[in-house]
Amino acid sequence: MTVKMPGVVWKPISRNYTKRRRARTDCVILHIAVTEASSLKGWFNNPSAGASSHFYVRRDGTIEQYMGAEYISWANGAGNSRSITVETQGMGTGSWTGPQVKSLARICSFAHEKFGVRTSLMQNSLPSSKGIGYHRLGVNPWRVNGGELWSSSRGKICPGYDRIPQIPTIAANAAGGTYAPVANPEKRPVKNPKPVQGTKNKHLSKAQVKNVQRALATCGIYRGKIDGVAGPVTEEAIEYYQRNQLWGNLVADGMWGPVCVAHYKWVKQLQTAMNNWKGSKIAVDGDYRKVTRARVEDIMERNHGGAYKGVIDAKPGPVFCKMLEIPTHP
Ligand SMILES: [Zn+2]
Repeated sequence: MTVKMPGVVWKPISRNYTKRRRARTDCVILHIAVTEASSLKGWFNNPSAGASSHFYVRRDGTIEQYMGAEYISWANGAGNSRSITVETQGMGTGSWTGPQVKSLARICSFAHEKFGVRTSLMQNSLPSSKGIGYHRLGVNPWRVNGGELWSSSRGKICPGYDRIPQIPTIAANAAGGTYAPVANPEKRPVKNPKPVQGTKNKHLSKAQVKNVQRALATCGIYRGKIDGVAGPVTEEAIEYYQRNQLWGNLVADGMWGPVCVAHYKWVKQLQTAMNNWKGSKIAVDGDYRKVTRARVEDIMERNHGGAYKGVIDAKPGPVFCKMLEIPTHP
């Protein structure tokens, strides 16, 4: 089956790529096409091109896709068999436009959700390196010892000096999960909150309900008023939080009870502890969804074989918690 990203202009090419599924997908590699052409389809279909990319992002943010995202494009030499590749409209100098930055983040987020590509930054082209990278990492003289050669054109700076500093912003936006054509699929609006007391949270005082509402608003889940009334909207938000925690033992009953509170507090502890480790910082919001899970994976990966000797399964078990000096999940 052909893997198409939602919201793209689909322009399949018939040559210049390998129509075979990649055995693994470790990274997204960003490029500059050094052209103002509005499409690369014509060139990629030209028998003499001998090149292709999965995606092309125009200055206005429009994304063209040229082949199923699972196949092997010909964009970056030894990295082709494990990467999703993206060409962009523009010349050697200059920055990506705002719409291009957004579209690149969407592609990275898509790669994360469909292929498990990390949203952290690649530091080099080593075969073990994963995440969001760019062409120059695999080009001499910047290539590190043992790194894959991604082009034989020595000195190629792709995607350019002005664009490489934009990649951390792209990675940060990608980590927020923005690939669907909506603003943020993790955030879900709740309309017309009615101040009616529900039945599930009678054990909480008005002040406590306000705290829960604030906490869930911080997670992007509760959109009602901070009014201390645990009505249907609040119950629904609690239930949504419980159901989406990527953690097995939470019952989605809409009640902010001891199990839920213990989980929430522990996730905050985990997030605080992880922010003391090398790598990207995340919000301390008690929400164990994909941003936090990706950070857990990132730390496991970075320290694997060193400080971390457990399995890389994105679930903090006793070994991981001990390393972070926090208790295990309650
Ligand atoms: Zn390139």
